[in-house]
Parts: sequence; structure tokens; C-alpha cells
Amino acid sequence: MAKPKVAFYWCASCGGCEEAVVDLAEKVLNVVAAVDIVFWPVALDFKKSDVEAMPDKSIAVSFINGAIRLSEQEEMAQLLRRKSQVVIAFGACAQLGGIPGLANLWDRRSIFDWYYRQAPSVAPDGSAPATKVKVPEGELELPAFWDTVKSLDQVIDVDYFVPGCPPTPKVLLAAVEALLGGKLPPKGAVLAGDKSLCHECRLNDSKPEKILIADLKRITELQLDPEKCYLAQGVICLGPVTRGGCEALCIEGHMPCTGCFGPLDQTPDYGGTAVSFLASIVDVNDEAEAKRVLDKVADPTGIVYRYSLARSKLGRKRLEAGA
Ligand code: SF4
Ligand code: SF4
Repeated sequence: MAKPKVAFYWCASCGGCEEAVVDLAEKVLNVVAAVDIVFWPVALDFKKSDVEAMPDKSIAVSFINGAIRLSEQEEMAQLLRRKSQVVIAFGACAQLGGIPGLANLWDRRSIFDWYYRQAPSVAPDGSAPATKVKVPEGELELPAFWDTVKSLDQVIDVDYFVPGCPPTPKVLLAAVEALLGGKLPPKGAVLAGDKSLCHECRLNDSKPEKILIADLKRITELQLDPEKCYLAQGVICLGPVTRGGCEALCIEGHMPCTGCFGPLDQTPDYGGTAVSFLASIVDVNDEAEAKRVLDKVADPTGIVYRYSLARSKLGRKRLEAGA
């Protein structure tokens, strides 16, 4: 019997999601034995033209990681959508826009101005990437750099989402087994449980029923007690509002949860929920006190929308006219 054809592709990605496949270790051999990998640019020499030549819907599953930042990424996502029966947004960047989505606090012009003209480490010569560049040999074309970073489902229809930055080997394996075994949940599901991280965190027993803290602390400000709930120690840990399934790996590494598994099914907006949760645990009596505590949060957007600004209700900072 012919093996199902599988494709992997990366868009605006750090490469960590590709590493996640390799992190399957010897189990990757079982996956490779069960499927026919027909496209995986990071590991194997396939070209776009190879995909274009495939019949529509001939790929059983495409795993696409990374956010959509360039015209080329949007084009490849559309091509893989056409060629695939199932498309999976793999990892926080594809699911929610991820860390690249924080660039939605700026626009193309301000990003290029900084990186090619103003940053202290550059010797500006007035040049910045352009979509068409003339060279002696002819004209070169580069992909367009969009003002706005998008999640995968903001540009194509997505069947399933695998959360994580990157997804853990366990989550990836469970997704592959569900796909190969034909045991898939309804379309649109996130392929991980729907309970918050606290439910699987070993420190949950030390978390008071009602947390009230008079001060928020940065992780550098104290010696964390690794046996006591980090939130109860005053460090922002987003476990209560974040989907579990990661086996609390960061907590085990003595780091609080930063929210990479994203929102639970019924959460309308991850950042909004995180703000509302944090506001409910800060125990202050007046506005000045509240301001003192909140001023200690160095990068509020980067904390509550670290992985999900692009897919949030806000989406981005308002574009200036003419930007
Ligand atoms: S989800 Fe995380 S690991 Fe995957 S590409 Fe984005 S930043 Fe990298
Ligand atoms: S708040 Fe953080 S440290 Fe505390 S139980 Fe939840 S995940 Fe664990």
C-alpha cells in the first residue's frame, strides 16, 4: 500500500520547529518508515517546482511552521493548501503569529529604517531590501516584506493546530499518530489537551487556592524556590491561562511559563485573559500602588502577547496613514 505523502515547510521561523521533528530521536525512524516525505526544504533538496508538479490534494498532510511575514511565504502556504488534504499549523508562530508577530508593534518602514539606517551597528548607505534590484546580469526579485505578520490561518484554511514554541516531541508524536490512525478530532481543533498548565505542574500543590501578591518580581530579583509555585512567589507565571500539554518543561527548568502553548479553547483573547488574570491577583489598595506594581512589568505587551499578538483581537499597532 502506498504510504501517505507528507510535507514540512517553514515560513517566518527560527528553525526550532524543524528541530522539534529531529527531537523525536529514534522515533523519527518510525515516522519516516510510515510516511513518504515529499517536501522538506530544510533537510532534503526539493524545489517549489516539485510541489507545483504534484496533483492537487496528493499530499496527505502538510506541517507548516512559522508565521507569514513575506509574500513568498503566503504563496507557498497557498500552494501547499492546494496540494494537501490536511494542513497543520505547527508551532506557536504558525498557530498565533508567535514571536515574529511582535513586529506588528512596528511596520515595514520603521523596521527597515532601524535595521538598515539607524541601528548603531550599521554603516548606512541608504540601501534597504527592495522587491526588484537591477544588477549587471539582469533584474533580481525578492519577496515583498509585509507590514503585518500573520498567523497561518489568517492566509489559508487550516485543519489543525499543534501548539508550542516549539511543540514537544510528545505533542508532535501524538499528532502524527492521530493522523496516521485516522483518529482526528473535529476540524479546527488544537491537538493538545484543554486544561491549563497548572493541572500538570508539579508545583500546583503548593499554589494557594487564592493567590494575592503585593508585588510582582522579575526572575532576576529573587532566588526562586524550585519547590514552590512561582506565581505565589510573585513572579509572572502564565500557567493558569495557558494550555497544558508541554509537561511543564520550563517549570522543570526553573523558568516560569511564558505561554507558548497559547489559549485554552474557550479563551477569546490570550493577552486580554492574561491581563485580567494578573489584575485579579495583584493585591493593592489604591491607584498609585497599582501603578508602582505595574511599572515593574518591563515589557507588558511582550509578556502577555509574546506568542499571540498577530492572532489577537488587537492584531497590530495601528498603521500610520502612508506607512
Ligand atoms: S514556534 Fe518557536 S520554535 Fe517554532 S519557529 Fe516559532 S519561535 Fe521557532
Ligand atoms: S502558576 Fe506556574 S508554577 Fe504555579 S502551579 Fe501554575 S504553572 Fe506551576
